[in-house]
Order: sequence, then structure tokens, then C-alpha cells
Amino acid sequence: MKRRLPSIRARLALWHAGVLTLIVCVFSAGILVFVRASLFAGVDRQLHRALTTIDWVYHHEPDEIADLASESGIVLFQLVVDGKLRYQTEGWKRAGLSRALHDGAMGPESWESPNGGWYRVQAVAEPSYTLAAAVVEGARRDAFWTLVAILAAGIPLAAGLAVAGGYFLAGRALAPVGAMADKARQITADSLGERLPVRNPQDEFGRLAGVINDTLSRLHDSFDRLRRFTADASHELRTPLTAMRSVGEVALEATLEPARYREVIGSMLEEVDRLTHLVDSLLVLTRADSGATRPVREVVELSALTGSVADHLRVLAEEKQQSLSVDAGAPVEARCDPAILRLGLMNLLHNAIKYTPSGGAIHVRAKAGESGQSLIEVQDSGPGIAAVHRERIFERFYRADAGRSGESAGVGLGLAIARWAVAANGGHIELESEESKGSLFRIVLPG
Ligand code: ADP
Repeated sequence: MKRRLPSIRARLALWHAGVLTLIVCVFSAGILVFVRASLFAGVDRQLHRALTTIDWVYHHEPDEIADLASESGIVLFQLVVDGKLRYQTEGWKRAGLSRALHDGAMGPESWESPNGGWYRVQAVAEPSYTLAAAVVEGARRDAFWTLVAILAAGIPLAAGLAVAGGYFLAGRALAPVGAMADKARQITADSLGERLPVRNPQDEFGRLAGVINDTLSRLHDSFDRLRRFTADASHELRTPLTAMRSVGEVALEATLEPARYREVIGSMLEEVDRLTHLVDSLLVLTRADSGATRPVREVVELSALTGSVADHLRVLAEEKQQSLSVDAGAPVEARCDPAILRLGLMNLLHNAIKYTPSGGAIHVRAKAGESGQSLIEVQDSGPGIAAVHRERIFERFYRADAGRSGESAGVGLGLAIARWAVAANGGHIELESEESKGSLFRIVLPG
């Protein structure tokens, strides 16, 4: 496996220094090539001028050739005419520059004399004579090598500084990550209200911290909801249990007629029913929350489904002398899970029967919506729902009339289940209601 440096800070510093060193090396090599070329171009021009001058003097004032060195400063040259040395300067001789020509230099070329000096040598060979001149390279060559030495020493130094600077800068840039990690380590389920520090919300780390903070907010909300749900559920479970206990205790205290015992057992069974209903509802919702209930969609004819749910609950409406009518129009189809949708509709219709006073009227109908949706409407002539409650009645354990007791006392989970059942099928529930004028719950399903 490839070994990696454990810290991003060190990796960034090394990459930064590596890339910088590479750039400096390429740049330095470019400089050296350019400087070398321009230095030798200057020497070569000087050499060319010297050769031209010697040539001119040889042709026009040949006797002056010996004075050339002292007069024009051209101190290194030789003239060979018809294979015989005609003239060579003292300097040429001393430096043994003839050997440079024997080595075959026609140049311009650099040549190192045996005593260690460097010369630039060029020769011009004509049929009858050969002219050769040289220029000392010394100062220019020294300047070039000084530059090489400076760069050779400077590059490692620059690389070292780049590593140190990169390490420092990377440390500063990555500091928010460390602060975020420290804070995140302290956040537990009990301190989900705390947030990661955001130094600059615009930069990458700031945006990352923002995203994590949003996630924490959502987690906080769902933990809160869960806590409230558990507290409410425990409270609701206690009520029937307390009722059963007190009814039982009273019955035990005195010797009762058999008919009274029957009454006591009857009222205890009522509480058991309530408990069973509550536990069933809690089970539906917890399964829904955990995603365990997956809707299996199929094409469902909604009029038939509506009729079947109404038939199922008709006996309850009859007990309250309510008229329960199903408007059977044209068939309406929707793609949904019939069992889950049935559960939602059952809760809506059950509420309509429960909250509509005796003798009231309830209408149920399935129809096609104007923009292609499929609708199921449950309309009652009950007390309606006041505007203050309308927003909240779909919340778990919310009851518009919390003080209600007895047969119609619910636990506040019916509409929450109905909303989940419809949403699981891709739809939503609309509510039209006016106080004392009844309510209309409308299930809207995508067509
Ligand atoms: P519950 O178990 O109390 O019926 P729900 O979630 O089904 O719980 O309903 C929440 C509240 O909405 C009820 O307590 C009731 O006040 C109100 N409500 C629901 N349906 C109707 C309706 N058809 N008419 C009037 N009020 C209703």
C-alpha cells in the first residue's frame, strides 16, 4: 500500500515546496542558458571586430601589423602567410594559443590553455594566409560561474524556506479544521444545541462548518421530536392505566353485586381498547419513522376503496344516527399502496363520525382533480376546526379540544397517521373548515 504522510499540513508544505523548487530550477536553467549565450555573443563580436581590423591592416598597411597590439589593444593574434608564421603577438605566444589552432579550432570556440586560462579563439583561413585571434574569456566566464554558484546555493535555501513557509501557512489555513474537530468531539446527544465555530462563512471551511451545523440542527430537531414523542406517548399510556387501576381498586374495596362487577370489567375493557388503539397507532408511526413500512404501489380504483372504507365504518355512523353517503361518480384511478391509503382514509372518516354530532351528515367521494390529480373528499357537518388549530391538528398528540373525554376522547395520532399514509403515496391532505360549519378533508394524490 502507498505510504502517505499522516498530516495534510506536511503534505501541503512538501507539495508547495516541491512545485516551487521545480519552477525555480527551470527558471534558473533558463537564466543560465540566456546569460551564457549573451556573454559569449559579446566576446564573439569583439573577436570578429579584431579579425576584421587585422585583416584590413594586413592588406592595406602590412608593415603596421606589429604595432597593432599596442595601438588598437588587439593583443592576441597571429598571422601565417603561405604556411609560414609571419607575425604573432607576445601574448599569443605566451599563452601557447597556436596549439588551439592545431586542435583544429576555426571557431569561435572556447579553449583552455595548459596554464589554466580560458580563451575564445577564432581563425580565418584564406588560400594564401591564415589569420587567428583570441580574446580572454576570464571575467565573463567568472561572472557566469559566480551566477551558477549563487543559484546552486540559493535553490536549496529557497526550497527550505518554501517548506517552512508552506508549513506555517498550511497550519494557519487548516487551523479552523482543528477547531471544528475539537468542538465536534465535545458534541454529544445531550449537547446537540451547540454548533461548530465558523470563522468565515464564505470560505470552504466556513461552508463545510455551515453544512455540518445545518445537519446538527436537523438532528437536534429530530432528537427533540423523539423526546417529545416518547414523553407524550408515556403520558398517554399512563392515563388508561391509571383509570383501570382506580376502577379496580374501588371494585376491590367493597363486595359488589355481580352486575356491578360486570360494569367494572366492562369499563376496564374499554380502557384496554383505548390502550390497544394507542399502541397500534404508535406502532404504525414508529414503523413509518424507521422506514420499515414501504409502500407497494399499484393502480387502485379510488371509488371502490372509498365505498369499502365507508361500509366498514357505517355501523359507527348508524349508532349515532348519522347519514353516511358515498358519491359514486366515474371511476378514479391512482397509483398507490391500497392498504396504507385505506388506513389514512379510515382515520379521516372515523374522525368525521367521531366529531360530528348525532344526526349529522357525512359525505365521502372520490373524483378527478382539475390538474390531473385524484381526490378523495371526506365532508362532515360537525363542529368544524377553529383557525388556531388548523395548522397544528396534523401534529402528533395534538388535540383541538384537549379537555374532551369519554367516548370521543382521542389520543391525537389519527391525523398524524393519515398525513403519513397520504404522503407515503406521494400526496398531501388539504383541509377546508369553518367553525360550526363542518370540515372537509381532501386527500390529493398525483394522477
Ligand atoms: P384524535 O385521536 O384526537 O381524533 P386526530 O389526530 O385524529 O386525533 O385529530 C386531532 C384533532 O383534530 C382532534 O382532537 C380534533 O379536535 C380535530 N379533528 C379531527 N377531525 C375532525 C373533524 N372531522 N371535525 C372536527 N374536528 C376534528
